[in-house]
Amino acid sequence: MLLFARIFKGVLGLFIALAVLLALRYYAASGWGNDYPSGRLTPDQHQFRITSYRLDIHVNPQRRRLKVRCLMGLRFRDGADTVRLNFVEGYHIKRLRVDGREVDAHYANDYVWWTRQTKTNPFQRVELIYEGAPLQARRAPWRGGFVWRKDEQGMPWMGLACQGEGGKIWLPARDGAGIKSDTLMMCIKVPRPLFAAASGHLLKVDSLRDSLIFHWRSFYPILHYNINFTIGHYVVIKDTLHSVNGRDVAVRLYALKGDSARFATLLKPLKKAVHFMEQRLGAYPWPDDKIGLAQTPYGGMENQTLIAYGSRIQFIRVAGYRINRLLIHELAHEWWGNLISAADWDDFWLHEGFATYMEALYTEHIGGERAYRAYGRRLRRRVKNTQPVVLNRTRTTNEAYDNDVYNKGALTLYALRHAVGDTAFFNMLQQWGISAGPTDARTTKQFMAFAQSYAPRSLKEFFHSFLYTTQSVDTLLPGL
Ligand SMILES: [Zn+2]
Repeated sequence: MLLFARIFKGVLGLFIALAVLLALRYYAASGWGNDYPSGRLTPDQHQFRITSYRLDIHVNPQRRRLKVRCLMGLRFRDGADTVRLNFVEGYHIKRLRVDGREVDAHYANDYVWWTRQTKTNPFQRVELIYEGAPLQARRAPWRGGFVWRKDEQGMPWMGLACQGEGGKIWLPARDGAGIKSDTLMMCIKVPRPLFAAASGHLLKVDSLRDSLIFHWRSFYPILHYNINFTIGHYVVIKDTLHSVNGRDVAVRLYALKGDSARFATLLKPLKKAVHFMEQRLGAYPWPDDKIGLAQTPYGGMENQTLIAYGSRIQFIRVAGYRINRLLIHELAHEWWGNLISAADWDDFWLHEGFATYMEALYTEHIGGERAYRAYGRRLRRRVKNTQPVVLNRTRTTNEAYDNDVYNKGALTLYALRHAVGDTAFFNMLQQWGISAGPTDARTTKQFMAFAQSYAPRSLKEFFHSFLYTTQSVDTLLPGL
């Protein structure tokens, strides 16, 4: 009997070890490993754009459900005959109308699609009414979705992070990289006394007997995964920032009521960081909306004008200086990622490498050259070199997510600065941001050509080594 138990234990142990190994392999192979990777469009999805969203959202935090009325403006190319929207399955679609008429649509395999009846008008207005329980995050922001929690006072607290999955987990969208709509309106109904903070600027709040409706609007282009709202028993900490272009920009912190004094300590460092970014990169990109920071039930995410910052205020130490890395990193994404957006997830380093490099520049701003070099060494230690930063083929979020997109991407800029000199480098960096069109998305090749125009010698070999190979780049990192 004892022998049998031992054998059984041994086999069980082996089985568990195998299962753990397989799970680790799965995570290693699939990066974020989320169930709804984002980044591929079907050919017919290239035939139209979603120009506008108007979302009426009724949130039931107790049941973790949404009821949504989604109005979209669509603009078509000549000959487009199918409308295909990414929209994860599981919602109950109650109505689908195109220009006021019901259409015969299909909803399967995480798409909604229908055939266009009239093709004479290049614009169409689509109305979708649906309800359901949206995907819950397994490990936000990496394996994202909705995060439902209770705060320490027992009040509902909700956050949304879906960069890896795309907006399709809760609204009909075109699920490619760099895909933006031009305008956004969100009217969010929540039970009293909760506050719904969202992308854009707050127009008004309707006060009903048991609920509040928050009306948010933005006229800036916005990526589908950046369309965001967060709910909590918030107090709003208000301030303004005098922007480098002379405008006053609203600064809003959404802090949990029981914890607002602690969260308010982020206001000064946030404003200081915006001033720093403006010096380096040009004016804050969304002055008509706000500079927004919300206390969220997950770590951090660069939601446009509503940066998510988790409850733990954390610092790293570099050369004796305390750096609020998360704050600097997520704020930098307002320029690198939200304004200048990668055309394909293969170009992900244009978001993450750049935002990470801003951490190094901010460290230099605080602690001088010695601290900057220490930050460079910190980045170098973290380089894995398991695959090139850029593979030159279309990739999904799962396929593209890798530490080197951050650290080696940042080191590329670190070394580029040395290669072209400070004056040319900082001019180039600022112009790369300023030259953004309203909805254009950028490729690595475009960046290389842009940087080349500021360089006295060819950067071909340089970029090849850093971005397209896994060879050691230590010799190209002077002073580290
Ligand atoms: Zn980032």
